[in-house]
Amino acid sequence: MKQLSQIEECPKCAGREFGRGKQNGYAVMLPINKAMSFGSEVEHIICTSCGYIIESYVKKPEKFKGTME
Ligand SMILES: [Zn+2]
Repeated sequence: MKQLSQIEECPKCAGREFGRGKQNGYAVMLPINKAMSFGSEVEHIICTSCGYIIESYVKKPEKFKGTME
């Protein structure tokens, strides 16, 4: 997995404290044309001051290869 980018400050509120959260269960990201796939959890980098989601990553990006074809 690639390195998370270095975040200096929140673009919305200029806050400098961030947290990480993940979505799973019904909030998984699913490959759009692979009906039998289980998809992937989504992880977010969140500003803990205002709640803005700075970045989002799927945990298993390889599952999404080929979905633009
Ligand atoms: Zn913020």
